[in-house]
Amino acid sequence: MSKTCFSDAEYEAVKRVLDSGWVTMGPETHAFEKEFANYLGSEHAIAVSSGTAALHLSLLALGIGPGDEVILPSLTFVATANAVRYVGAVPVFAEISGLNDWNISVGSIESKIRPATAGVIVVHYAGFPCQMDKIQTLVKGRGLKLIEDAAHAPGAFFNGKALGAWGDAGCFSFYSNKNMTSAEGGMIVTNNEETARQISLLRSHGMTALTWDRHLGHCFSYDVLRTGFNYRIDELRASLGKAQLAKLNKNNRRRRELTRSMRSELNVGLPITFPFSDGMISESGCHIFPILLDDSQKRPAFMEHMKHLGIQTSIHYPPIHKFTSYADFPSEGSQLPVTELVAAGEVTLPLYPSMTDKDLAFVCQAVKQFYSG
Ligand SMILES: *Cc1c(COP(=O)(O)O)cnc(C)c1O
Repeated sequence: MSKTCFSDAEYEAVKRVLDSGWVTMGPETHAFEKEFANYLGSEHAIAVSSGTAALHLSLLALGIGPGDEVILPSLTFVATANAVRYVGAVPVFAEISGLNDWNISVGSIESKIRPATAGVIVVHYAGFPCQMDKIQTLVKGRGLKLIEDAAHAPGAFFNGKALGAWGDAGCFSFYSNKNMTSAEGGMIVTNNEETARQISLLRSHGMTALTWDRHLGHCFSYDVLRTGFNYRIDELRASLGKAQLAKLNKNNRRRRELTRSMRSELNVGLPITFPFSDGMISESGCHIFPILLDDSQKRPAFMEHMKHLGIQTSIHYPPIHKFTSYADFPSEGSQLPVTELVAAGEVTLPLYPSMTDKDLAFVCQAVKQFYSG
């Protein structure tokens, strides 16, 4: 469970845009992009309508298409894999590292590389960083493209460098339950000028000039360079995004604090596994608080118990390779036993910045009560 948290800053931002009379892509969007690029330490940031659009345009801009394979985890939101299919490429699912590290395994990526492999999409699960040094070395050595699905990880790091800034493109989502929100929205960051140019074109019909440029009198006509989309964000969302970006560090600090407290409070010998290590929390986005019930059979009863106490829980994620739409997997008889084990017993407990210490104590008490009762 997550909760949005808006203050005067968001209300005033939206009002300022409405008062200006210009609501589609323009100065607010450009300012949001600039601030996000600065925040992340990237050369370019391009705002789009969703995280899914960010993934789609990254793949297209990096030249991935029909005949290509893209390696990615199965333990992620389905949009990560759907985007690969949008461009006509084939998603190839890799295994996660283990019961204590739910990010994609470097060894598994390596074992899935074939002549058709064009790229890798890593997902920083719950905001905890993948092993970006090893992954970058592997991917570069094989001449593959690297995309980071950093939907859980704005303001998170690996070895002090921002997540999203390691790959050829880094994709963010500003959906309502993410670390920062613009209602719907997304962002792509890249250090490559040509990639940024392609993404900007594709975001708006492949057109060379935008309405805003024509409004400014910069040009009267336009050309269309390739078949693009309408994946634009708008000024209302961009202004919300700017206001939320200003609060991101503070909110992430609270997420980390809550994560530490919850882990220590629940560390009393319950049959539960906490993924990742306490030492990783300081660099994590702490987007969600996932636990693994050692006995996955107990999950429905556990979730029912929590619901009965008014505590909403969820599952991150049903693994993609088990969905009907992905039933053609496995293509080479590969299995993902660790992914399946985690997916069967995972429960996500509430975590959001406005969660109070009292809320936290109530959730932890409810978990302990399930196992003592
Ligand atoms: C939210 C999310 C997306 C999709 O983002 P939208 O903005 O909802 O399109 C993609 N990948 C992951 C891991 C996500 O959590």
